[in-house]
Amino acid sequence: MNYQSINVSHLLRKITFNDVLFNGAYTLDVYQNCAFGCIYCDSSYDETIYIKKNAIEAFKEDIKLFEKGRIIIGSVHDPYQPIEQKEELTRGILQIIEEQDIPAHILTKSPLILRDLDILTRLNDIRVTMTILSIDPRIVRLFEENAPSPKDRFQTMKQLSYNDITTGIALIPILPYLTDNSFEETISMASQFHAAYLIYKYLELKGDQKQKVFSLLDDIDVTLLPRYGKLYYERYSPSNEYMKEINKKIEDICKRYHLSSYSVPIIN
Ligand code: SF4
Repeated sequence: MNYQSINVSHLLRKITFNDVLFNGAYTLDVYQNCAFGCIYCDSSYDETIYIKKNAIEAFKEDIKLFEKGRIIIGSVHDPYQPIEQKEELTRGILQIIEEQDIPAHILTKSPLILRDLDILTRLNDIRVTMTILSIDPRIVRLFEENAPSPKDRFQTMKQLSYNDITTGIALIPILPYLTDNSFEETISMASQFHAAYLIYKYLELKGDQKQKVFSLLDDIDVTLLPRYGKLYYERYSPSNEYMKEINKKIEDICKRYHLSSYSVPIIN
Protein backbone atom coordinates (compact mmCIF):
# COMPACT_ATOMS: atom_id res chain seq x y z
CA MET A 1 0.00 0.00 0.00
CA ASN A 2 1.33 3.47 -0.91
CA TYR A 3 0.44 6.71 0.80
CA GLN A 4 0.46 10.12 -0.82
CA SER A 5 -0.39 13.48 0.72
CA ILE A 6 -2.58 15.82 -1.30
CA ASN A 7 -4.29 19.18 -0.77
CA VAL A 8 -7.93 19.69 -1.68
CA SER A 9 -9.87 22.86 -2.37
CA HIS A 10 -13.09 21.53 -0.79
CA LEU A 11 -13.92 18.69 1.55
CA LEU A 12 -17.71 18.76 1.75
CA ARG A 13 -19.83 17.40 -1.09
CA LYS A 14 -23.49 18.28 -1.21
CA ILE A 15 -25.85 15.32 -1.59
CA THR A 16 -28.23 16.17 -4.40
CA PHE A 17 -30.79 13.40 -3.87
CA ASN A 18 -33.01 12.28 -1.01
CA ASP A 19 -30.57 10.20 1.02
CA VAL A 20 -32.91 7.64 2.59
CA LEU A 21 -30.05 5.34 3.60
CA PHE A 22 -27.90 7.68 5.65
CA ASN A 23 -30.14 10.71 6.02
CA GLY A 24 -27.38 13.09 4.98
CA ALA A 25 -27.09 16.52 3.40
CA TYR A 26 -23.30 16.31 2.76
CA THR A 27 -20.57 13.69 2.53
CA LEU A 28 -17.01 14.11 3.73
CA ASP A 29 -13.94 11.89 3.27
CA VAL A 30 -10.52 12.76 4.67
CA TYR A 31 -8.86 9.84 2.87
CA GLN A 32 -9.34 8.70 -0.68
CA ASN A 33 -9.28 4.89 -1.09
CA CYS A 34 -9.07 2.40 1.72
CA ALA A 35 -6.43 0.07 3.10
CA PHE A 36 -9.01 -2.49 4.28
CA GLY A 37 -9.30 -3.57 0.66
CA CYS A 38 -12.73 -5.24 0.59
CA ILE A 39 -13.17 -7.04 -2.73
CA TYR A 40 -16.59 -5.55 -3.52
CA CYS A 41 -15.56 -1.93 -2.87
CA ASP A 42 -14.57 0.78 -5.36
CA SER A 43 -12.19 2.23 -2.75
CA SER A 44 -9.99 -0.84 -2.88
CA TYR A 45 -8.85 -0.79 -6.51
CA ASP A 46 -6.16 1.84 -6.27
CA GLU A 47 -3.02 0.82 -4.36
CA THR A 48 -2.48 4.42 -3.24
CA ILE A 49 -4.25 5.98 -0.29
CA TYR A 50 -4.46 9.75 -0.69
CA ILE A 51 -4.28 11.68 2.57
CA LYS A 52 -6.07 15.03 2.38
CA LYS A 53 -3.46 16.83 4.48
CA ASN A 54 -5.32 20.15 4.54
CA ALA A 55 -8.68 18.48 5.30
CA ILE A 56 -9.24 20.45 8.49
CA GLU A 57 -8.46 23.83 6.92
CA ALA A 58 -10.61 22.99 3.86
CA PHE A 59 -13.48 21.96 6.14
CA LYS A 60 -13.25 25.21 8.11
CA GLU A 61 -13.51 27.15 4.83
CA ASP A 62 -16.40 24.98 3.54
CA ILE A 63 -18.54 25.52 6.61
CA LYS A 64 -18.40 29.29 6.17
CA LEU A 65 -20.89 28.73 3.32
CA PHE A 66 -22.61 25.80 4.98
CA GLU A 67 -26.39 25.39 5.19
CA LYS A 68 -26.71 23.25 8.27
CA GLY A 69 -27.41 19.57 7.52
CA ARG A 70 -26.17 16.13 8.52
CA ILE A 71 -22.66 15.28 7.36
CA ILE A 72 -21.99 11.66 6.41
CA ILE A 73 -18.42 10.71 7.26
CA GLY A 74 -17.09 7.59 5.56
CA SER A 75 -19.82 6.67 3.11
CA VAL A 76 -17.12 6.02 0.48
CA HIS A 77 -13.74 5.56 2.23
CA ASP A 78 -13.33 4.34 5.81
CA PRO A 79 -12.49 7.33 8.09
CA TYR A 80 -10.90 5.03 10.69
CA GLN A 81 -8.65 3.00 8.40
CA PRO A 82 -5.16 2.37 9.88
CA ILE A 83 -3.54 5.64 8.72
CA GLU A 84 -6.01 7.61 10.88
CA GLN A 85 -4.14 6.35 13.96
CA LYS A 86 -1.23 8.57 12.92
CA GLU A 87 -2.90 11.37 10.96
CA GLU A 88 -5.87 12.09 13.27
CA LEU A 89 -7.71 13.91 10.47
CA THR A 90 -11.09 12.37 11.33
CA ARG A 91 -10.53 13.38 14.95
CA GLY A 92 -9.75 16.93 13.84
CA ILE A 93 -12.97 17.06 11.82
CA LEU A 94 -14.97 15.82 14.81
CA GLN A 95 -13.52 18.62 16.93
CA ILE A 96 -14.90 21.18 14.47
CA ILE A 97 -18.22 19.34 14.29
CA GLU A 98 -18.40 19.64 18.07
CA GLU A 99 -17.52 23.37 18.06
CA GLN A 100 -20.10 24.12 15.38
CA ASP A 101 -22.75 21.68 16.70
CA ILE A 102 -23.22 19.98 13.33
CA PRO A 103 -25.25 16.72 13.04
CA ALA A 104 -23.14 13.81 11.77
CA HIS A 105 -23.35 10.14 10.85
CA ILE A 106 -20.15 8.07 10.77
CA LEU A 107 -19.77 4.80 8.88
CA THR A 108 -16.84 2.53 9.64
CA LYS A 109 -15.67 -1.01 10.17
CA SER A 110 -12.98 -0.05 12.65
CA PRO A 111 -12.75 -0.12 16.47
CA LEU A 112 -10.33 2.82 16.15
CA ILE A 113 -13.43 5.00 16.42
CA LEU A 114 -13.40 4.26 20.16
CA ARG A 115 -10.28 6.44 20.47
CA ASP A 116 -12.57 9.42 19.82
CA LEU A 117 -15.21 8.51 22.39
CA ASP A 118 -14.34 11.65 24.36
CA ILE A 119 -15.55 13.85 21.49
CA LEU A 120 -18.35 11.56 20.32
CA THR A 121 -19.99 11.57 23.74
CA ARG A 122 -20.11 15.37 23.72
CA LEU A 123 -21.86 15.65 20.33
CA ASN A 124 -25.55 16.52 20.40
CA ASP A 125 -26.55 14.72 17.22
CA ILE A 126 -24.40 11.77 16.20
CA ARG A 127 -24.99 8.24 15.01
CA VAL A 128 -22.40 5.59 14.20
CA THR A 129 -23.02 2.73 11.82
CA MET A 130 -20.77 -0.33 11.72
CA THR A 131 -20.88 -2.04 8.33
CA ILE A 132 -21.21 -5.81 8.40
CA LEU A 133 -21.10 -8.08 5.37
CA SER A 134 -21.73 -11.37 7.13
CA ILE A 135 -20.90 -13.22 10.32
CA ASP A 136 -19.84 -16.30 8.33
CA PRO A 137 -16.02 -16.48 8.75
CA ARG A 138 -15.58 -18.03 5.30
CA ILE A 139 -17.37 -15.17 3.52
CA VAL A 140 -15.54 -12.58 5.61
CA ARG A 141 -12.15 -14.16 4.82
CA LEU A 142 -12.90 -14.20 1.09
CA PHE A 143 -14.31 -10.71 0.71
CA GLU A 144 -12.86 -8.54 3.47
CA GLU A 145 -9.84 -10.33 4.87
CA ASN A 146 -7.97 -7.18 5.90
CA ALA A 147 -10.81 -5.38 7.64
CA PRO A 148 -11.40 -5.65 11.42
CA SER A 149 -13.33 -8.80 12.33
CA PRO A 150 -17.13 -8.70 12.64
CA LYS A 151 -16.67 -9.65 16.31
CA ASP A 152 -14.59 -6.50 16.87
CA ARG A 153 -17.17 -4.41 15.01
CA PHE A 154 -20.01 -5.74 17.18
CA GLN A 155 -17.98 -5.13 20.34
CA THR A 156 -17.32 -1.57 19.16
CA MET A 157 -21.03 -1.06 18.67
CA LYS A 158 -21.69 -2.23 22.20
CA GLN A 159 -19.10 0.18 23.62
CA LEU A 160 -20.62 3.06 21.68
CA SER A 161 -24.08 2.16 22.89
CA TYR A 162 -22.88 1.95 26.53
CA ASN A 163 -21.73 5.54 26.02
CA ASP A 164 -25.20 6.59 24.84
CA ILE A 165 -24.24 6.91 21.19
CA THR A 166 -26.93 5.70 18.80
CA THR A 167 -25.51 2.84 16.72
CA GLY A 168 -26.71 0.41 14.12
CA ILE A 169 -25.41 -1.83 11.37
CA ALA A 170 -25.21 -1.46 7.63
CA LEU A 171 -25.71 -4.79 5.93
CA ILE A 172 -23.82 -3.65 2.86
CA PRO A 173 -23.50 -5.15 0.39
CA ILE A 174 -25.96 -8.03 0.36
CA LEU A 175 -24.32 -10.73 -1.75
CA PRO A 176 -27.02 -12.80 -3.46
CA TYR A 177 -26.79 -16.56 -2.75
CA LEU A 178 -23.93 -15.97 -0.30
CA THR A 179 -25.14 -13.72 2.51
CA ASP A 180 -28.89 -13.76 1.90
CA ASN A 181 -29.52 -16.94 3.89
CA SER A 182 -28.14 -15.79 7.24
CA PHE A 183 -30.00 -12.54 7.99
CA GLU A 184 -31.63 -13.98 11.10
CA GLU A 185 -28.24 -14.77 12.68
CA THR A 186 -26.72 -11.40 11.75
CA ILE A 187 -29.70 -9.31 12.85
CA SER A 188 -30.05 -11.28 16.08
CA MET A 189 -26.36 -10.67 16.80
CA ALA A 190 -26.74 -6.95 15.98
CA SER A 191 -29.64 -6.75 18.40
CA GLN A 192 -27.65 -8.47 21.17
CA PHE A 193 -24.90 -5.89 20.64
CA HIS A 194 -27.36 -2.99 20.99
CA ALA A 195 -27.98 -1.99 17.36
CA ALA A 196 -30.94 0.37 17.11
CA TYR A 197 -31.35 0.21 13.33
CA LEU A 198 -30.28 -1.59 10.19
CA ILE A 199 -29.40 -0.11 6.82
CA TYR A 200 -29.09 -2.43 3.85
CA LYS A 201 -28.16 -2.30 0.20
CA TYR A 202 -27.50 -4.86 -2.52
CA LEU A 203 -24.23 -5.58 -4.28
CA GLU A 204 -23.91 -3.35 -7.33
CA LEU A 205 -21.83 -4.60 -10.23
CA LYS A 206 -20.18 -1.81 -12.17
CA GLY A 207 -16.93 -1.51 -14.15
CA ASP A 208 -13.81 -3.02 -12.57
CA GLN A 209 -15.76 -4.09 -9.54
CA LYS A 210 -17.79 -6.51 -11.66
CA GLN A 211 -14.68 -8.28 -12.97
CA LYS A 212 -13.11 -8.63 -9.55
CA VAL A 213 -16.26 -9.97 -7.92
CA PHE A 214 -17.03 -12.31 -10.81
CA SER A 215 -13.61 -13.91 -10.72
CA LEU A 216 -13.94 -14.55 -6.97
CA LEU A 217 -17.46 -15.94 -7.37
CA ASP A 218 -16.18 -18.41 -9.93
CA ASP A 219 -13.49 -19.59 -7.51
CA ILE A 220 -16.05 -20.07 -4.72
CA ASP A 221 -18.62 -22.05 -6.69
CA VAL A 222 -18.87 -22.52 -10.45
CA THR A 223 -22.67 -22.38 -10.32
CA LEU A 224 -22.65 -18.81 -8.98
CA LEU A 225 -21.66 -17.00 -12.16
CA PRO A 226 -24.57 -18.24 -14.28
CA ARG A 227 -26.96 -17.49 -11.41
CA TYR A 228 -25.59 -13.94 -11.07
CA GLY A 229 -25.77 -13.54 -14.85
CA LYS A 230 -29.47 -14.31 -14.66
CA LEU A 231 -30.13 -12.20 -11.58
CA TYR A 232 -28.26 -9.10 -12.79
CA TYR A 233 -29.07 -9.52 -16.46
CA GLU A 234 -27.76 -6.28 -18.09
CA ARG A 235 -28.29 -4.34 -14.85
CA TYR A 236 -25.93 -3.26 -12.09
CA SER A 237 -28.36 -4.32 -9.34
CA PRO A 238 -30.29 -7.58 -8.89
CA SER A 239 -33.77 -8.06 -10.33
CA ASN A 240 -36.66 -6.24 -8.66
CA GLU A 241 -38.39 -9.54 -7.85
CA TYR A 242 -35.33 -10.71 -5.93
CA MET A 243 -34.98 -7.40 -4.05
CA LYS A 244 -38.69 -7.32 -3.13
CA GLU A 245 -38.48 -10.84 -1.73
CA ILE A 246 -35.32 -10.12 0.28
CA ASN A 247 -36.59 -6.71 1.50
CA LYS A 248 -39.63 -8.41 2.94
CA LYS A 249 -37.51 -11.07 4.63
CA ILE A 250 -35.24 -8.44 6.23
CA GLU A 251 -38.06 -6.18 7.31
CA ASP A 252 -39.94 -9.07 8.95
CA ILE A 253 -36.83 -10.06 10.91
CA CYS A 254 -36.11 -6.44 11.92
CA LYS A 255 -39.67 -6.07 13.24
CA ARG A 256 -39.20 -9.13 15.43
CA TYR A 257 -35.97 -7.70 16.85
CA HIS A 258 -37.39 -4.15 17.17
CA LEU A 259 -34.86 -2.61 14.77
CA SER A 260 -35.78 0.17 12.34
CA SER A 261 -34.73 -0.65 8.77
CA TYR A 262 -33.74 1.58 5.85
CA SER A 263 -33.07 0.68 2.23
CA VAL A 264 -32.99 2.30 -1.19
CA PRO A 265 -36.45 2.31 -2.84
CA ILE A 266 -36.82 -0.18 -5.70
CA ILE A 267 -37.34 1.59 -9.02
CA ASN A 268 -39.65 -0.27 -11.40
S1 SF4 B 1 -13.75 -0.78 4.75
FE1 SF4 B 1 -15.33 0.24 3.56
S2 SF4 B 1 -14.26 1.77 2.35
FE2 SF4 B 1 -12.72 0.32 3.09
S3 SF4 B 1 -12.49 -1.16 1.41
FE3 SF4 B 1 -14.00 -1.99 2.88
S4 SF4 B 1 -16.00 -1.32 2.10
FE4 SF4 B 1 -14.42 -0.06 1.09
